[in-house]
Order: sequence, then C-alpha cells, then structure tokens
Amino acid sequence: MEILIKNGYVYDPINRINGERVDIAIKDGKIVSTDLIDTRRAKVIDAKNKTVMPGGVDIHSHIAGPKVTAGRLMRPEDHYKVFMRAIPGVRRSGTGRTTPSTNLIGYKYARMGWTTVVEPATPPLETRHTHEELDDIPIIDKLCFPLFDSNWLLLDYIQDKEYEKGAALLAYLLYAVKGYAIKLVAPGAAEAWGYGKGVGLDIDDAIPGYDLTPREIIRGLCRINEMLKLPHTIHVHCNRLGFPGNYETTLKTMDAVSDLASEDRPVIHITHVQFTGYTGWSWDTLGTGAEEIARYMNTHRHVSLDLGQIVFGDATTMTADAPLEFVLHHLAPGKWSGSDVEAETAAGIVPLRYRKRSYANAMQWCIGLEVALLVQDAWRVIPTTDHPNAGRFTRYPWLIAWLMSRRAREKVLKRVNRRAASRAILPTLDREYSLYEVAIATRAAPAKLLGLKHKGHLGIGADADVVIYDIDPKSIDPSKDHAEVTNAFRRAAYTIKGGKIVVKNGEIVKHVYGKTYCLKPCVPHDLLESVVEEIKPKFREWYSVSLENYIIGEHEIRKPEVIPVETLLK
Ligand SMILES: [Zn+2]
Repeated sequence: MEILIKNGYVYDPINRINGERVDIAIKDGKIVSTDLIDTRRAKVIDAKNKTVMPGGVDIHSHIAGPKVTAGRLMRPEDHYKVFMRAIPGVRRSGTGRTTPSTNLIGYKYARMGWTTVVEPATPPLETRHTHEELDDIPIIDKLCFPLFDSNWLLLDYIQDKEYEKGAALLAYLLYAVKGYAIKLVAPGAAEAWGYGKGVGLDIDDAIPGYDLTPREIIRGLCRINEMLKLPHTIHVHCNRLGFPGNYETTLKTMDAVSDLASEDRPVIHITHVQFTGYTGWSWDTLGTGAEEIARYMNTHRHVSLDLGQIVFGDATTMTADAPLEFVLHHLAPGKWSGSDVEAETAAGIVPLRYRKRSYANAMQWCIGLEVALLVQDAWRVIPTTDHPNAGRFTRYPWLIAWLMSRRAREKVLKRVNRRAASRAILPTLDREYSLYEVAIATRAAPAKLLGLKHKGHLGIGADADVVIYDIDPKSIDPSKDHAEVTNAFRRAAYTIKGGKIVVKNGEIVKHVYGKTYCLKPCVPHDLLESVVEEIKPKFREWYSVSLENYIIGEHEIRKPEVIPVETLLK
C-alpha cells in the first residue's frame, strides 16, 4: 500500500524539520522519496492545517510480564468500569484502567499516536511470559529490558572483577531471553531483600552475601554495557527510590559512571527521576531536588533521564524494588503482593492513589515538571509516567500540555496542596515546550537513546510510523489553547503503523501486530563456551529449570527482529 501525506506541518527533529510543509510518502512500510509514489493509485491524506510527527516512542512503561498480570489479578476493581467493546473484523475487546488488558494497551497507545513501547523490567527467568504478553499487544513495536542487578551468575563475575567474562555472560543471557538493554532496579536491593534487608540500601552500603556495593554493580554493568556496545545505556532505577532526601543518592549514581563515558553521549539513563529527586528527611518535610539534578544534567552530558511524572488519581505501583513496596504497603495499607525470582530478582505491587490535596503527592507532581523544565536539553529528558507507577500512560496528553503551557500548570497548581505549591519552584518557572521540543522529547530523543535507527524520524528509509494530530500550529497557541492540545494528543487524526492506517479520527480501524526488537551481541566462540561451561553447574544448583529450557527461541516470538551487535570482546 502506498500513502502520500500532503500539506501537513511536519515536526521531525532528527532531520531538523521544524513545522515546515513537507509531503511524506510511504511505500511497503517505509518512508520513501515522494517520486517513488504513483499518485494515481496511492491513498492521499490531506493533512492541511494539521501537525505531522513520527510515531511516539515510550522508553519506560510497564505493559507486560508477571508483575503486570499479578497487578491485574489484584485489582478486579480496576476492570469494572473501563472497557472497550469488540467490533468484529476491526478491533477486539479489553478492560482495565491502570492495568489494562493487552488489546487495550495497544489500542490506547495507537490512539494517542505512540507506536513503540519499552517494557522496562522483566525477570530473565520469567521473560517467556513477558514475551507471550508482548506478543498479544496489538499495533505497537515492543522491546523489553531484563533485570540484571541482582543476578547471582553476573554478580560473581562483577565481584571478581572479571568484566570480560561478565560481558560474555550478559550477552548470552540477553540473547537467551530476547532482551534489549540492561535494567538495574535499586542495584543490589533485591539480593539484600532475600536476607530481609535492603530497605533504603544506599549506593555504598554492603550487600549481604556478596563483597559488593551497589556502586560496584552500577560501574560493573556500565563497563560491561560499553564493552558490548549495546545501543541503549544501562537503564537505572536508583537506590533509595521513594525515600525523602534521596536526590543525593541520584547525584552519586550519575557521578559514579562519569569517568566511563568515552564519547559525547550518555552512558547511564536514570529512570523515573521524580521518585528519586527528593530533599527533606520525612514525607512531611519532603522538598524538591530538581534544581540540583538539573544543575548536574546541564553540566554533564553522560546522563539521560525520564520523568516518572505523577498525574494524580489511581495508580498501581509495581517494581523489582521489593523492599520499597514493603515500605509503601505500610504507608498505604491495603493490598500488597511480593515475589522473589530464584537467583535473579524480586518484586512487589501496591495500588496507590495520588491526591492533589496531599502535601507529598503535590510536591511529587511539581518535582517531575521542574526537572523537565529546568534541564535545558530536551534530547535527554523523556516525559514518562512510569506507567502505571506514577500514573497511566493514557495521561500523556495532559503531561504534554503541562510542558507546553504555564497556564495549564497554574490551573492545577490552584487546586493542589497549598503548602506544597508554596515550597515548590514550579510556580516560578516560565519555560514552555514548543511543538518541536515535544517531538524531540516524545519521539526523536527516546528513539535515539534506544539506538532505534528507523524510529523517531521521517527520513527516507525510516519505518512508516507516522501520526497526524489535529493541531494547526499557525492558529493554535499551545500556551493558551492547552485544552485543544490535550484533545489532539488524546485522539490522533491518523496513526499509521508500519505503513498501515490503524487509527482514523481517534478510532482504531485496523488490528495489526508489531515487532519485538531484541539483541544478539557477538561474542567470540571460545570465550562464550568457557563462560557457559562455568555457569552450568551453578545453574543446575540455583535454578528450578534447566539452562536449555531457560532459553527462549526466536520461533517463540510472534515477530522477532533480532539485531546483531558488534562488541569489543576479543
Ligand atoms: Zn518503572
């Protein structure tokens, strides 16, 4: 199918197109030169007075895997009222608000114009389950990040400073479970939690059972990541997340790898920084660490961030930071689920509600936006809600309006806890994102940080993931007309995925399946063989499955896109 999108205002930061009228041609699922299109046969879309962008890329959203399933089971009340009816031949049905079912996830992302999503935390042992669910999510392309910070096999090598073997093992495990990047969650905390410890574990605390600190794990995995030349950096949920005063730990974590940056590009991604940007010593004295974090970001280029922006309302927290969930359960008594994954990681789930009237929640809301507005470089700050931890991904249209409009922020500030609003710095911030910056932060930058060369832009050869929003940049002023901006981002005029029109006038019109990206890092045969021989007896002793069954075959994934990676291993 050929498509020609005419007359639209195009925002494509990777190709430095800032609101110019450019026609976009699509053929066989790719962006092509307009003269390759037969205009008599092609489907022509008139995007006059509309905004055209690449499909959105979500760098961090918990959409699949055992903890999402457990979250759904724990919260039947989350599924009573929100549902989508099936339309035979067009779309399937689904339910759920903070933990939507698989079909709803794909549809709701597509309706907003997002076409690629990262599931950012999967226990390697249970990643077969994660892939089965990712396979079932329609429309979007997917990636998943396995958890490696408390993996006994890897920790042994890091403790012995055998980084080359560690890198070979990591490459082996990453391909075995068809993952895409290295995820760390409160490094070492899951291991400490196995001993009933780990609550508030700081970056230089000792990890029971090992002669290691979280700092050494972060540095070890960062070094391994650089040896493997993986397209994304290490993806780090900092220690002491959710604890007042934790911004210092976040700064220490960023600085722990500053000497490992060899080029002018990030070597660490700090995820949902809002949760780790607190001053103060209690929930009542909680303050903002946004200025300190932004100061570091504005003077160092080796770090990228995503926000984990609070959006108020219902949330279901779910994380491999098991000790944190234990603490949350005591702060918000009610349902709590905890889990331990053999020799790898742990996890917990607690439903939460963020309230505008709560001092702490209002402060959290301010901190996320403060970071987004104080960090100058939109290429290194990605707006996320850490779905469903700080809020639902379906609230992105509001988050975009808050970034683009001081008025939109003031409207909320009038209704939040007064003490929080008076102590935050958000009310003093004037900055408003332009549409170009929104296109950077929600599309171009996450694609670039993930190393997805065919995503996040509309240049020739890019994947034909294109979205058309009903925003006329010549007549709409996002600063004033923030409600229009929100509405346009809630329901795209068109979403085109892989060259197929999947959304029209904000409604799903086609059910298709996207790809799952995974990496196959090249490891010299002898090195790989020696490492596999070394781990075999440990695996037999520590795991309930055999190594053969641990490996997920490419054939087990609906549409695998395996990317070979040249490494520095010799
Ligand atoms: Zn997360």
